[in-house]
Parts: sequence; structure tokens; C-alpha cells
Amino acid sequence: MNISKLKEVIEDQPKFRFKQIEQAIFRDFVSSWAEVTTLPANLRAILDEECSLEIKVEEFKSDDGSVKILLELEDGLKIESVMLSHRDGRHTICVSSQVGCPLGCLFCATGQNGYKRNLTRDEIVEQVLYFSRQLKAKNEQVSNIVFMGMGEPLLNYDNVIAAIRLMNSPEGMGLGARRFSISTAGIPKGIRQLAREGLEVNLALSLHAPTNELRGQLMPISKSYTLAQVMKSLEDYVSATNRRIMFEYMTIRGINDEPIHAKQLVKLLTGWLGFVNLINYNETDLFLPSTAERMTSFKSILEKGGLKVVQRYSFGKSIDAACGQLAGKKKKKD
Ligand code: SF4
Repeated sequence: MNISKLKEVIEDQPKFRFKQIEQAIFRDFVSSWAEVTTLPANLRAILDEECSLEIKVEEFKSDDGSVKILLELEDGLKIESVMLSHRDGRHTICVSSQVGCPLGCLFCATGQNGYKRNLTRDEIVEQVLYFSRQLKAKNEQVSNIVFMGMGEPLLNYDNVIAAIRLMNSPEGMGLGARRFSISTAGIPKGIRQLAREGLEVNLALSLHAPTNELRGQLMPISKSYTLAQVMKSLEDYVSATNRRIMFEYMTIRGINDEPIHAKQLVKLLTGWLGFVNLINYNETDLFLPSTAERMTSFKSILEKGGLKVVQRYSFGKSIDAACGQLAGKKKKKD
């Protein structure tokens, strides 16, 4: 899909044309200009030529109903997005913000495959449009959008915020700001900027370790920004917005899932406005997931310590739904 030239193409058209086009793309979720019969045929032909609505994807369906796509961008690079469908009928779309990621977290396939470039606003929105089109056919719609796919969203700050503003606006998809969640590995400048944005989106920290030392072994970003610096920026965020933080903690067997780590986590997070999202790791060549028993005892230590904990079901194991696992595999094969 490429709608970057849209304004230029319809420059000489009456103003209401732009509204018709926005309606067609973001509300009716059309897949081709031929469907937009409110537009004159000659304009549809030009749009077809200059602003393709085609979204090129390879789709992978998991046994549990989640769907992962490998989306091909205009320059041929590929990104991943996932739709997680919940039993209560909600659909969460996990989007990428960059092609690859510069942060190189050891447990993450994306991080291991390097960084290519930031996604544009439209490339971020395109991922949500793809699933919205699919859902529309079933009379359903996207419920939530989480920036937990490939890339560090706060390192592509302007485009991520522009994409959220477009999807949030009445002219765009009209999705409430609280339906969006940004997950960051911890970029203090971006966290403080987000606090001033005036957008009521949710913020998650990919914590994954209770101490700076262990975090440094898993997430090289901790060498640039210590855990203490990241927590300070979150403190500023909470005081400015009064919004709670989701602390994501992915348990990896024998690395960060020992009782001592749970106790350290209680110490770190006591008194915070927020909760822990406990996720089990999707196996890779380097690490293994925690055992079910270990997850249970880890969670129980956190709860006994007074922390609020939710345990996320690990979606999409059969399609490598953890970030970057699929793009990584395809790259190796190509
Ligand atoms: S976990 Fe997130 S921040 Fe870390 S390398 Fe992967 S995509 Fe980047």
C-alpha cells in the first residue's frame, strides 16, 4: 500500500473528495479503489496507478486462532504483525514500529537480526488496516493496538505518535486513545516526551529483569540507560499523567525466574502505580521457557509481596508469534 501521494493526487479535486477517500480507507476498509464507487471512474484510475491500496502479506494461522502476517513494504523489506483473538471477541493487533531493531536484546529474534529503518506513519497504520479489512468481512473490529512487534517505538517517536493520532482521530479510525499501548525497552527521553503528549495511551516497560546487572546481560540498552534512570523517567511519567505502568516480565528458564528474582522484583515495584504482566518465553535456540511450576511459584511470590499480577497466555506458539521470530526465519531461508 502507498498512500503517501494521496494529497498531491487529489489536490485539484473538490474538498469533499478527501473526506470520501478517508471514509473509504479508514472506515469502510476498502481493499481497492474500484470499490469506492462514490468517486468518478477517472479519479479511481489515477488513484489505482499512484496510490495503491494493495497490502502484500503472507499469512500464518496458529492453532489457537492468532494470525501472524509477514507484510512486504514498498521497498521490499518485510515486517511482522500479529492479531491475537480473545475468547470474549476482542481482537488485539500487535504492530511493528521499525524494520528490525537497533537494541539487540539477547532473547529477541528481531534484536538479533539487526536494524534496517524506521517505519513511516502509513506503514504503521497499514498493519492495522490489513486486519481491519479481514475483520470487517466478519462484521467484527479491532479492539486494541499494542506496539510490541518489531522495533523500539520510542526510537521512532514522531511516526508512532502520528500513526496513533491518525487512528485515534474521527477522520481516521476513531479508535479511543486508551486502546493503544506502547511498549518500550526504556528510553527515558521518549518516556518524558510521551508524558507531555496529552494522549491517554497506555505505557508498558519491557522490564524482564529486577536488577540492572541482570538486565544488562539480557538487554544492552541498560548500558546506555540504567534501570534507575529508566525508573526515574517512569516516576516522572506517572506524576505527570497519573496513568499506571504495565511492567512486562518474560520468564526465561534459569535466567530470570528464580525465587530471588521474584523477591527482587517485589522490592523494585512495591509502591508503584501499575501491575506486572507475566509472560512465558517462546523457546529459541538460546533460551527456554520457564516450567509451569516455576511460573506458578514466581507469580505467587509476587502476589504475596503485594504486587498486582496478570499472566498473559502465550499466543501463537505454532507460528512463532514472539517478536521477530518469523521474519528471522524467512530471512534465513531467502
Ligand atoms: S525486545 Fe523489543 S527492544 Fe528488544 S530487540 Fe526485540 S524489538 Fe528491540
